[in-house]
Amino acid sequence: MKREGVLYVMSAPSGAGKTTLCKEIIDIFPGLRHSVSYTTRPPRVGEVHGRDYFFVEHAEFSRMASAGEFAEWAEVHGNLYGTSLETLKESRAQGIDLILDIDCQGARQLKGRFEGGVYIFVLPPSIAELRRRLDNRSSDAPEVIERRINNAAGEIKEARWYDYIIVNDKFSEAVEQLKSVLIAEQCRALRLIQGLSTIFDI
Ligand code: 5GP
Repeated sequence: MKREGVLYVMSAPSGAGKTTLCKEIIDIFPGLRHSVSYTTRPPRVGEVHGRDYFFVEHAEFSRMASAGEFAEWAEVHGNLYGTSLETLKESRAQGIDLILDIDCQGARQLKGRFEGGVYIFVLPPSIAELRRRLDNRSSDAPEVIERRINNAAGEIKEARWYDYIIVNDKFSEAVEQLKSVLIAEQCRALRLIQGLSTIFDI
């Protein structure tokens, strides 16, 4: 049964575990794809161009932004990040569900621009735990970690306008909660009526 692809927009302060959650949920739902963002941030060890991000120069990013090639874009922790408008439109039209791992500024832009998106905010159990996770990750310099902790309080305030909040204390429970959100959203009547009307007089 044909339906429009759903946009799942996930935000969280850096270190809350959002990226790991996104990866896990993509393994569980084979039809779900991760939207690969563009960024001016240099790659971290192990990150692959085209899989984790499209790593581009500042000039190229600016050109794309001016040409209207982004569905949203924002400056986050001193780097630029953006979502390709074409990928987003194509996925929706082809009925492919997309999961976007983006910051609150970008999420707000999408909410104002597209209908039917599902907005999910991932919280750490506490700021102390967030710091512990960022320290353990050790892929970022201490000043980068400090900047991310300082930004966290502002980001957490944004959680109130999202559709769902998942507190990532125990990872397996957070995965179950996210799974439940996706399953419920796939059953939403509004998404199904059009497809069902070819089968039933509904
Ligand atoms: P990181 O550099 O740790 O991969 O990501 C830093 C922040 O940028 C995260 O909050 C992540 O969700 C956000 N981000 C990643 N891609 C995008 C994007 O395309 N647009 C926006 N607005 N934020 C993004």
